[in-house]
Amino acid sequence: MVIGIIGASLSGLIAGEKLARAGHDVTLIEKSRELGGRLATHRIDDDFFDYGVPFLTAQNRKFQSFIDELQSKDLLYQWADSFPLYDGSQLHSINPNRPKAAYYAGKDGLNRVAENLKRWIDIKSEEKAGGLTHIGADRSRKRAWMINLTDITVFECDAVILATPATEAYGILQTAQDETPARRIIRVIDEIQYQPRFALMASYKEETPSWKGIECNDNTLAWIGNESSKSEKQSATNIVIHSSAQFARTYAEKDLDEVAHLLLEKAADIAEPWLAHPKKTYLRHWKYYRARNPLEDYFMELEMEEAPLALIGDYFKGNSAEAAYLSGYHLADYWINKYATAEAEN
Ligand SMILES: Cc1cc2nc3c(=O)[nH]c(=O)nc-3n(C[C@H](O)[C@H](O)[C@H](O)COP(=O)(O)OP(=O)(O)OC[C@H]3O[C@@H](n4cnc5c(N)ncnc54)[C@H](O)[C@@H]3O)c2cc1C
Repeated sequence: MVIGIIGASLSGLIAGEKLARAGHDVTLIEKSRELGGRLATHRIDDDFFDYGVPFLTAQNRKFQSFIDELQSKDLLYQWADSFPLYDGSQLHSINPNRPKAAYYAGKDGLNRVAENLKRWIDIKSEEKAGGLTHIGADRSRKRAWMINLTDITVFECDAVILATPATEAYGILQTAQDETPARRIIRVIDEIQYQPRFALMASYKEETPSWKGIECNDNTLAWIGNESSKSEKQSATNIVIHSSAQFARTYAEKDLDEVAHLLLEKAADIAEPWLAHPKKTYLRHWKYYRARNPLEDYFMELEMEEAPLALIGDYFKGNSAEAAYLSGYHLADYWINKYATAEAEN
């Protein structure tokens, strides 16, 4: 089958890699220049900031095998086994609420993981999918779907996978609801709500601190990550500061300099006084940090045998990078079996 996947996210790339290895012809359509979605790395020469997910950690065996494979390729390594906790008033040297575990970081930034998965797949980056057209009974056309790109070109395919946050999948699916039974899915994903987050990247001339990251259970901050502790190649002390969801909601429309100032002041208060005075900063607002109310299944399918369409992502069975991986993995497994059987029967 010719499969079009919208979103070069962890879920989209895993599904794409598995389906391509099984012999399908897979093209990924990604609106950004970079691959990985919320597996996001900002680079300045040899320095990098993971300003989306800061590390990977596994509870599921399949995800652990994936991490092990990335370790064997020298892309990931075990970075930490615990973090200090700021509980809103006090800093504890170790988070008492969390058992020790393996936290993996990228040797050269986490989005190298995404780049490693693209080998089997055709990628159209900087191409935004604006909508879908179901070709239906018009058999003068060979394929069941047209993905309409916002530069007015189209991509024709037999099957579509939406690997975007639910809110973005909602917008795309709505364009096909008159021709397909998509309305049921639209109603379900309309319920999914996301928490926002600010991520502030800041560089300093001071020596890199001994801590790797500080979890914060606080009204303003959620995480302070020491990016320079991930690689000896970093030339400056690079820190990523994540706001709480509550702070990101309150300050979504406020002046960005004011937001950065408040985040830096709070980080200085919690960890090191010099954190208030960076050499350089860059602020990113994430509208979709994590789903508040994920769904129970690994993925969702449109009920149309002749025009396969499915939704995957981290809003299925969790709201983590691991959930995104498992969602893509399970859909690919399911489609590989389903369409191999269909081909054998024809
Ligand atoms: C600041 C931050 C901190 C986080 N911390 C953690 C953590 O500690 N632990 C954890 O497990 N997880 C964490 N996460 C969540 C984790 O990053 C996500 O769960 C996971 O990466 C989501 O993957 P995904 O496959 O669902 O999609 P995404 O990564 O959201 O990717 C969707 C992709 O679709 C693309 N796209 C969207 N619309 C279109 C369109 N119309 N056309 C083409 N392309 C489109 C986007 O550009 C994006 O590349 C964090 C996320 C953020 C932002």
